[in-house]
Amino acid sequence: MSAGKTVAIIGAGPVGLAAAAHVMEREWCPVVLEAGPEAGHSVRQWQHVQLFSPWEYNVDKAAARLLAPTGWNSPDPQVYPTGAELLERYIEPLATRTPLRDVIRTSSRVTAVGRAGFDKAKTKGREAAPFEIRYRNGKGPETLRADAVIDTSGTWASPNPAGAGGLPAIGEHEAAARISYGMPDVLGRDRARYAGKTVAVLGAGHSAIGTLSELTALAQEAPGTRAVWLLRSGNPEKSFGGGANDKLAARGELGAHFASLVASGQVQVEAGFPVAAISQVEGRLRLATVSACCGRSIVVDELVVATGFRPDLSFLSEIRLRLDPAIEAPVALAPLIDPNEHSCGTVRPHGARELVQDDAGFYLAGIKSYGRAPTFLMITGYEQVRSIAADLAGDREAAERVELELPETGVCTRGGVEGGDGASGCCGGPAPVGVAACCADDASAKAAGKTGCGCS
Ligand SMILES: Cc1cc2nc3c(=O)[nH]c(=O)nc-3n(C[C@H](O)[C@H](O)[C@H](O)COP(=O)(O)OP(=O)(O)OC[C@H]3O[C@@H](n4cnc5c(N)ncnc54)[C@H](O)[C@@H]3O)c2cc1C
Repeated sequence: MSAGKTVAIIGAGPVGLAAAAHVMEREWCPVVLEAGPEAGHSVRQWQHVQLFSPWEYNVDKAAARLLAPTGWNSPDPQVYPTGAELLERYIEPLATRTPLRDVIRTSSRVTAVGRAGFDKAKTKGREAAPFEIRYRNGKGPETLRADAVIDTSGTWASPNPAGAGGLPAIGEHEAAARISYGMPDVLGRDRARYAGKTVAVLGAGHSAIGTLSELTALAQEAPGTRAVWLLRSGNPEKSFGGGANDKLAARGELGAHFASLVASGQVQVEAGFPVAAISQVEGRLRLATVSACCGRSIVVDELVVATGFRPDLSFLSEIRLRLDPAIEAPVALAPLIDPNEHSCGTVRPHGARELVQDDAGFYLAGIKSYGRAPTFLMITGYEQVRSIAADLAGDREAAERVELELPETGVCTRGGVEGGDGASGCCGGPAPVGVAACCADDASAKAAGKTGCGCS
């Protein structure tokens, strides 16, 4: 591939912008298509959240080189920004005050990607055909042709459902008005929705424990606010994380603080609670588990589902993708990030070699490239796009080189950060063999002289 060719970048999140900066340095021409009205549209949705990685891990090097001549003040590397500060101090200046401003097309949602004149099944001559990117903006449908495509469109818009098996819980769609996904701003924008209410938060990762911590803070100001933590797993301790052993100290502190809220009873813990059905009762939500050993239910006013995200692959159906069937990440990357095996710190840095697809010139990058794995860090994405830009420019040595050392963290443990771990079943898992009890908690209660755990 020769210099000056066009690279379509889907999404102007932090990794898409970094991709554009690296592509520019390689003297290719990036065109960034962003669905939202401004760059960083997904980060804007969680801007009230404090990041768990400090500035040193949040700024891409090529982006910093573009920002330097604009008089940009590089933030203190040791400070942890909020999402709003990430936008204000990095993403917005990068998107509006550097040459990137001329290549970003906002309010441009990509709807389909293919190879011009070649449907997915047609092979002969395919590699020479440009990519055709269809998108919609305020004016209507548009088409862009490009020599390469980097899809950095993230996963924020496709959250996992509440249902424990990956399918929506029965009744989840019907109850949508009382359910939110991700991390609502319970102390700010969404305060009125949650103040004085009983709010269940489903999930075992940072988003869940962050929202629960904020609900306990809201309860101090708005009496009657109650935080209920629903976990599929029977083991809440897993979510307390690496504590002092976590190299990302903010993560460790969040986990330790949350552990103290649980210990003091400010968060009601419902462990072993895989949500199977949601029904509406007198304007409230009844959340129910259905399981062989103990059907339980709880009535709340609102449900926050924080069970992670999955990639939207629908607009890539004409691209020859080779993805792991479980993780939905590129096949060479999936074993490195499989949440059944890896924590954040044990994920090896990687680049173009792991991300390249059968349709040469097409790459998944950023958090979308991790598919359903919950361990992505921005800095991993910056390394990915540095390597991809080098690969496109034919600089194999730079594409292969690893320029990143990832911080070790004890939080992203086996079982996944966001996904939780349903394997241990309900009520602390199955009862020990030979014990007349419906589940482990029931067995413990009977051993302590009680009639049982009460779950059935
Ligand atoms: C609450 C929260 C806290 C986090 N904290 C950290 C942290 O501390 N440190 C860290 O490293 N990571 C953190 N992350 C992970 C974080 O999301 C990413 O690291 C980062 O935002 C991913 O960047 P990205 O560019 O890959 O995707 P995104 O930031 O999701 O950007 C994707 C962009 O693509 C656009 N888009 C989507 N679909 C289309 C389409 N069809 N056409 C055109 N544009 C499209 C979106 O509007 C968006 O602007 C956090 C995530 C969350 C949710």
